[in-house]
This record gives sequence, C-alpha cells and structure tokens, in this order.
Amino acid sequence: MTVRVVPYALPLLAPVRGRVTRRGWVVAVEEDGLVGWGEAACWPGFGAGARATRRALRPRASEGRSTEDTEDAPRAPRPLGASPEARGALEQAHLDLAAQRAGVSLAAWLAPAPRASVAVHALVAGPDDVERWPGVTTFKLKVGDAPWPRDLARVRAVRAAAPAARLRLDVNGRWSVADAIPRLRALADLGVDLVEQPTPPGDLAGLARARSEGGVRVALDEGLRGEDDLDAALATRAIDAVVLKSQALGGLLAAGRLARRAAAAGLEVVVTHALETAVGRAGALALAAGLPGDPVCGLGPALAVDVADLPAVAGGRAPLPAGVGLGVTGAALDARRGVVTGGGAWS
Ligand SMILES: [Mg+2]
Repeated sequence: MTVRVVPYALPLLAPVRGRVTRRGWVVAVEEDGLVGWGEAACWPGFGAGARATRRALRPRASEGRSTEDTEDAPRAPRPLGASPEARGALEQAHLDLAAQRAGVSLAAWLAPAPRASVAVHALVAGPDDVERWPGVTTFKLKVGDAPWPRDLARVRAVRAAAPAARLRLDVNGRWSVADAIPRLRALADLGVDLVEQPTPPGDLAGLARARSEGGVRVALDEGLRGEDDLDAALATRAIDAVVLKSQALGGLLAAGRLARRAAAAGLEVVVTHALETAVGRAGALALAAGLPGDPVCGLGPALAVDVADLPAVAGGRAPLPAGVGLGVTGAALDARRGVVTGGGAWS
C-alpha cells in the first residue's frame, strides 16, 4: 500500500470570512492498482486545525515521496489521533477503496438505497446572488462580520428577492447570548428558518436560552465535536438541528453515526463540507445521499478551480458522481495536477 499526501491551494468561488484561497491536502491510498481518495481541509473553529493535521499527515507526505506500508518503512506514520481531519481523510480514502473492491458506489457502500442526488442550499452574500441558483429553495447567509443593522438589511434584501425560500443564517458563534435574543426575534419576523451556531460553542445553556427566547430554530455546528456534545445538546434541549462536517468529526463513519442518532432524536440534519475540493465534497455527498429523509445540505461547490469535476447542481440538487467508489477518479485529478500547488509528484 502506498499513501500520498499532496497539499493544495485553490481559489474560492467567493470570499468566505475574508479568505479567498482554500488550502488543504488531498490524500491518495493506492493498493492493488486501485486508488482511494480522501481530503483534509481545516477551518478555524473546527477539528484540530492545520498545524496538528499537517503533523499527522507529514510522515505520509514526505514531500511527495510515497511511504510504503511495510515493516521496514523509512518513516513509520505517526498516530492520527491528534487530528480528526487527518483521520477523516485516511478513512475516506480507505472507504473509497473498499467500495471500489465491492463494485459499488461509496454511497451504496455506506447505506442501502442511497438517493442519486442531494438537495442543497446555496450560500449567498446578498440578493444579487439569488438568481444564480435557479431551482434552489434554501439560501444561507453568513452574518456576524458587519454591524447588526447591515446584516439585518442584507437578510431583508435576500428575503425580498426570495420570498418563498427557506433562509438559513450562520453566525459562527459570534453573538453573545444577550445580543442573540433580540436578533433572533428580528429574524423570526423575517421567517428565517434556521440559525447555525448563533452563540459561542461550549455554552449550551446560553444557546438553549437564545433558542427559547429568540423564537428561531437553531443548529449546533462548531459546538458539535462528537457524541458527547450531541448528548449534552439533547439533554439541555438546546437545538433543533445539527450541522455535520465529517472530517471535523473524524470521518464519514463517525458523522454517519451522529447523523442517524440526531435524526432519530427528531433533529434536522445538515451535512456540509468545509469548503472542500471535489474529493471531500463527493465523500460528503455519498454520506448525505443515504441519510433518512431527504435533508437539504450544504454541499454545493466552493472552489472556482477544483481538482476534479463533479456533476453540476441543477434544480436545487447536487447529483452524485457515477461509477464505483467515490466516483472521483485519479485520472481526473491527474489531468488537473497543474492546479494543485505546492505538492509533489502524483506518479
Ligand atoms: Mg456553520
């Protein structure tokens, strides 16, 4: 078995929280002529972060050289335990291989009878973006960077441009509980459907108060690191929904377990990726396609230049790629190797 880790730096479709470039690692695990793909892309507030993930992946990268998984390997891989992102990347690559060997799609390997596409929301900055997404019935706005009156005006403008749409907001934990309550009430008047992490992670009592007094459904995102956080949120009746990023949770299998537990408890489940390439996005699509119901997820494209092509979002749905395994082939990645910067050879 050969493991390769290649760092990438690719342009985002639109700036997110001031960032224009997405950096991460694509992981390829080769065995018996097959290649499985995974990805680690860290984002502030989630997982172990870039430094820990780089350290966990470094022995596998070796500046582009492969690391042979044999007893006399020149550098034994370090434990992956310190980084859920690194674990998730390696796990996805192995799941991709397992599904290829079984001759089924990764979605079908993860769950029986997966859907062929996943309903998606579109991330918009303002009303002008709405028309770029025909067929999309759920829009999401990031708020919390600007003064509240400006954010509120932006939400109002999107509401006016899409009067029948479901609106989701993401605060990324930037509001205090005291600020969140009147703001959530104002958003309730605009028919906002769901607000992700309105208050800082780690304060479930505060989130529960904001939820009950604000009158808008709220989701746990940064505050969900594993099963214990879900248990605590359920016990305090703090949330209506969970947002799941598989790599921050240690991989697709852990995320799938959490998703099914959350759904069984009556919570809405939103699978998202962390502004990842086609590799991570295809893994998240495979997970979402087999979950109960037909959840509206955050799985549209995030990058202006990607490492591979996935089928375009159409009619508010992201189709899964065809083929066995992840459906994102090495050939496609090889063909785009010029855009993966800072890495070593793919050969
Ligand atoms: Mg979020």
